Amino acid sequence: MEDPLASSTNTATLAAPAARRGRGFYFPDVTDAEWNDWKWQFRHRITSLEELCRLLPIPEGERDTRGQVLRDFRMGIPPYYLALIDADDPHDPILRQAVPVSDELWNRAVGDEDPLAEEAYSPVPGITHRYPDRVLMVISNTCAVYCRYCTRKRIMYDDAVPELELDRMVEYIAKTPAVRDVVVSGGDPLHLSTPKLERILAKLRAIPHLEIIRIGTRVPVALPQRIDDELCDMLQKYHPLWINVHFNHPRECTPEAARACDKLSRAGIPLNNQSVLLRGVNDDVPTMKALVHGLMRMRVRPYYLYQCDPVRGTEHMRTTVAKGLEIIEGLRGHTSGLAIPTYVVDAPGGGGKVPVTPDYLQGYDPVTGVARLRNFQKREFVYTDPRPRLGPDLGTIDVVLVEGEPGHANGNGHANGNGNGHGHANGNGNGNGHANGNGNGNGVAEVRVPANGNGFGPVQGGVASPANGQGPVVGKSTWVHGRGNRLPTL
Ligand code: SF4
Repeated sequence: MEDPLASSTNTATLAAPAARRGRGFYFPDVTDAEWNDWKWQFRHRITSLEELCRLLPIPEGERDTRGQVLRDFRMGIPPYYLALIDADDPHDPILRQAVPVSDELWNRAVGDEDPLAEEAYSPVPGITHRYPDRVLMVISNTCAVYCRYCTRKRIMYDDAVPELELDRMVEYIAKTPAVRDVVVSGGDPLHLSTPKLERILAKLRAIPHLEIIRIGTRVPVALPQRIDDELCDMLQKYHPLWINVHFNHPRECTPEAARACDKLSRAGIPLNNQSVLLRGVNDDVPTMKALVHGLMRMRVRPYYLYQCDPVRGTEHMRTTVAKGLEIIEGLRGHTSGLAIPTYVVDAPGGGGKVPVTPDYLQGYDPVTGVARLRNFQKREFVYTDPRPRLGPDLGTIDVVLVEGEPGHANGNGHANGNGNGHGHANGNGNGNGHANGNGNGNGVAEVRVPANGNGFGPVQGGVASPANGQGPVVGKSTWVHGRGNRLPTL
């Protein structure tokens, strides 16, 4: 059987069409030993405009503006990650994430330095404490790759985080018993040497009330060679430890990335992916579907899909919330639920993550216990809450939903609803009498009927016509659903 994790020495993608990219195209003289050595990859990151222009066809007229962009936010692209770029495509999705473009300069006055107000929620430098039981700990100012849309551009300088500052962060967590979960992030923690990272993890693990350590990293995406046995052996000493990775495009799901994820999984580390919704990168359903399927094949759970934060200089990479909803709509029901991330908007100003979902719940009345739902095919359904227990001496009222042919159950008025059929409960489920029904235009009328006897629904196969009153209810209901409700009087 074919090894799904087999190396792609000379190509950089799982199913890439023939294109001018890959190690053989950009770096034909690099040896296997160099290519597979993460320190070589890190040292040879493309960081200057001159190097970039040697490798990619950057238009002459744009070099000056791109140089200005680099003065604002630096560039770092490992050769492995650069090799994923199609040299013929100026809109290549990998290029858009890592290569500075002139739009960053034109948009530099738009957006915020710190859109999530991380500094405002920072009790000590490097810690953001926004939610009661967990904190973010920024232990590095360096990344394998600098993403052009990064929320933390503001901290990406050359200097490492000083030891003293790291100690103060650990001390804060140790002094704050409410904190049971820490997200160790950056920058990218996994670019640190294994011993240095271990020193930090060991200090955190020594804090008795700290249950969970999570690491946020883009290393498996941009520098998968870094995930070696030494690192995995070290990490697995500090369980429960989780890792959040950051894949944005299916072309990043390479055999090398799959191998890195496999090593981490074998070290017992659950992997969750956090994607950012980016214009021109992954803002369409087929791309996002291919991405989540690629992740699932690597045993990485799609966790969050973030709306891109309004960071200074990234306006050209942002999309609308409508686009995010369209993508979730295009996934839900069309692939397994396990593959669908939670779409969130991180509320500007420090409001935290707000999940945003399409309108699957069309209405819910907690009094009647009736929820109107629609599914991925846009078909409507009604779900009812469990019935309250009824006492023998109490009058009961059945709440009956009458669903007519679409568009036929219009009007307000006095209606006689007869629901004949069988019910779950004892009794015959007949409801006669005064009913107030408000048609909602799509054929659903809600009717309250004093129960005749102690029968209650659900009742199926009933007929709710004709209706007398101001508004006609015509047509036969497709079904009648009753629910007992304790109401003292009517
Ligand atoms: S890897 Fe993460 S922290 Fe680093 S630049 Fe990219 S998004 Fe920002």
